[in-house]
Amino acid sequence: MKIFISADMEGVTGIVHGDQLMPSGKTYERGRKLMTADINAAITGALREAPEAEFVVCDGHAVMRNIILEELHEAAQLVIGPAHPNNKPLCQSQGCDESFDLAFFTGYHSRAGTPNGLLSHTWVGSTISNFRINGDLVGETAINAAVVGHWDIPVGLVSGANELEPEAQATIPEGFVFAGTKKTYGFSAALCLPPAKTQKLLNEGAAEAVRRFKEGKLKPYKPTQPVTFEVEVHRREMADKSAQVPGVERKNERTITVTADSTIAAAETMWRGVCRAQDSEPDWLK
Ligand SMILES: [Zn+2]
Repeated sequence: MKIFISADMEGVTGIVHGDQLMPSGKTYERGRKLMTADINAAITGALREAPEAEFVVCDGHAVMRNIILEELHEAAQLVIGPAHPNNKPLCQSQGCDESFDLAFFTGYHSRAGTPNGLLSHTWVGSTISNFRINGDLVGETAINAAVVGHWDIPVGLVSGANELEPEAQATIPEGFVFAGTKKTYGFSAALCLPPAKTQKLLNEGAAEAVRRFKEGKLKPYKPTQPVTFEVEVHRREMADKSAQVPGVERKNERTITVTADSTIAAAETMWRGVCRAQDSEPDWLK
């Protein structure tokens, strides 16, 4: 059995503030350890139900060099490196392919515009106001569920702050397990469970996800095709640049769309468009 883990950081145990999320932050080193420990807890839980399982983890946050390889469980391999469209066109789902059976999303966060949401954004907070798939407002959970769903891979486990659960339920088919790491107070504060508790939730959640997969209870998220990804950006100049990317269409002043026959084609082209929208290459993409 092969399990793909797309790992973000904002929803990780104890993470509430930008200082924990970027290498320049004073508490970043602790944040990385917390992120790695959450992933290991999920891997250990899955291995109880599938001792032969192999894992690929995609480091899916900002600089994408956050997870501490030397502390990662030996059953996993790790995709490391920035999500430049030439390197990692699938961004947070790079490394996934048709050989995988099941996906976990750890440390995920709510979409841009979530009222009072914890560290909420979609892909690039400084660029994107709203993201839609076939007209539905979505966040990274749905985007990546659609990408892995291209290969009929269901999402079995999602972890993050409590507010993410209804967002995930809106798109991911019934049956996945949600592991809540904290209760949101606002953009940069939450009531956090300690790792001693969240690691149990992740461990038991991952084991339950594998059981449900083996019982045939999990289904992939497959938006109707051809699929349209739509991004509303903060400023018109951003849309000007994005629309130069082949396959990106201009809908109006601040909105671009990509329509494709597959979700991975739509995701890759839209990611290229969003990267092109940057004024200069940002540090997280270098
Ligand atoms: Zn992130």
